[in-house]
Amino acid sequence: MAVSDKKFTAVIGFPLGHTLSPLLHNAFYKKNNINAEMRAMPGEDVEKLVKVIRVLPVCLAAVTIPHKQTIMEFMDSIDETAKEIGAVNTVINRDGKLCGYNTDVVGIAKTLQAVPLKNKNVLVLGAGGAAQAMGYHLARTHALVYWYNRTRERAEVMAEKFGGKVAAESALSATNFDVIINTTPIGMLPKTEESPLPAGILRAGQVVFDIVYNPFETKLLRDAKAAGCNTLSGVTMFVEQALEQERLWLEREVENDGYEELIIGELKR
Ligand code: NAP
Repeated sequence: MAVSDKKFTAVIGFPLGHTLSPLLHNAFYKKNNINAEMRAMPGEDVEKLVKVIRVLPVCLAAVTIPHKQTIMEFMDSIDETAKEIGAVNTVINRDGKLCGYNTDVVGIAKTLQAVPLKNKNVLVLGAGGAAQAMGYHLARTHALVYWYNRTRERAEVMAEKFGGKVAAESALSATNFDVIINTTPIGMLPKTEESPLPAGILRAGQVVFDIVYNPFETKLLRDAKAAGCNTLSGVTMFVEQALEQERLWLEREVENDGYEELIIGELKR
């Protein structure tokens, strides 16, 4: 029997019904003539998933909710950036050794690359897993961060860890923010008419980045466009963090070549 040299990659998390990762990574393999296939591997037990990664083997695993923190103890090594952020969203299996990385931060950096951040007032909504990678990037770019979160204590933890201040609700309309970033799931399908901020707070010239990518254009981004803000979509972050995963696995440069259009097309279907 011929042994296929096809490689397997996976997205792991729970639930995984909505994941667009296989579509994106498999399009990348096709375009680059790489004999590999990404499959969705839903599972609640992270230890079992790690065993599958070792045994199958899975060469690259994209890690999503709720495993980004809990998978860390099963890694053979963890990249320094991922350690500082406190979350792993990528596992690379190098000859049986599992190495953990965080590529969300690369997706964030690429999405924000044209936005001046040094000494700019940046409001971050949310203090969960994605906000950790955001905090890491904003600290490195010397932004003046204001953290706002439903559970104030978690915003305090973010300010303590990455710097910045905790914003009271009254400060949201009173402060002149240069950049507003949503890292909460508010506005995500199916609740597409919800926004994490009242439209009246938005001002022309602000940059508004919503990391929610489903729908492609959230209510927050629609309101921001109507107010004359510059908008950045979570699709860019999603594609860039995925391409960074391929860079880490293949150990070579890869191009962002038409993948955002592919994802937007799928989201609009
Ligand atoms: P998470 O760890 O569960 O954190 C969610 C945060 O949002 C928490 O701060 C939570 O506040 C807040 N929140 C949740 N529901 C809320 C509500 N109804 N009202 C007010 N605040 C609420 O989630 P995550 O991993 O950071 O992911 C957040 C979103 O980012 C998801 O939609 C995810 O799909 C998206 N994401 C996108 C990308 C991308 O590549 N574009 C990458 C990663 C994540 P509490 O602290 O009060 O609970």
